Amino acid sequence: MTENKREKELVPDFCPHCGKELTPWEKVLLSVDRALMCRNCWYRIILKPVLFEDNERKSKSEKDS
Ligand SMILES: [Zn+2]
Repeated sequence: MTENKREKELVPDFCPHCGKELTPWEKVLLSVDRALMCRNCWYRIILKPVLFEDNERKSKSEKDS
């Protein structure tokens, strides 16, 4: 399941809005739902599409080399 591993790397450890550390369970929910409401500041954390970022990274490294 390499796809799942890749997704987990994109899950932030902290809320990008208030900086509160996310619990392991919240990180699981975020990786599954791609969205999570921070319980501290009610900011809606949204994960960016994984496939899109991967394609961008690949085409960039191809140009560089
Ligand atoms: Zn927050």
